[in-house]
Amino acid sequence: MPQSTHSDFGDTASVSSDAISLSTTASTAGNSLLSRLRKARSIGDQLHDVKAISISDLPAELDDFPKLQTRASTYVPEEWVHRGRSHTSWICFHGCYVVKLGPANQDQGSFWICGEKQCDGIYSADSTSGATKHLNKKHRLFEKEEPEDEQSKKRAKQSVIIL
Ligand SMILES: [Zn+2]
Repeated sequence: MPQSTHSDFGDTASVSSDAISLSTTASTAGNSLLSRLRKARSIGDQLHDVKAISISDLPAELDDFPKLQTRASTYVPEEWVHRGRSHTSWICFHGCYVVKLGPANQDQGSFWICGEKQCDGIYSADSTSGATKHLNKKHRLFEKEEPEDEQSKKRAKQSVIIL
């Protein structure tokens, strides 16, 4: 049967998620079918399920929390582990701030995960620029409506690339 496991990463335009897919390709080779199936869902789709859980329904221990799983890493929503922290950026409407967990569930820093279906965009939470660029370019989502002249400029640029 032909392998098509990496197609969900193919059109991700971000440097950061490319790096994730590159660094994990080799390590997945020996994984069981079950594990591959579990990880095949896009992070955006997993986020949809995880966000449906209310904080009051979470298990007591971080070990037992439902987690977002990529080939390389494990994440939980930041609001689950840092309950006082809040973000006000518009990118929160299209994704979620998460904490990357190490092998012993230690906090390895915050990231922003794209919440669009079939998407695997993951960006550092240090600034919103990576996430903003991703939402603009890949999903045509903008903080404010895209200015008319920007739209025509981009269309012109795209047609050059296609040629
Ligand atoms: Zn995305």
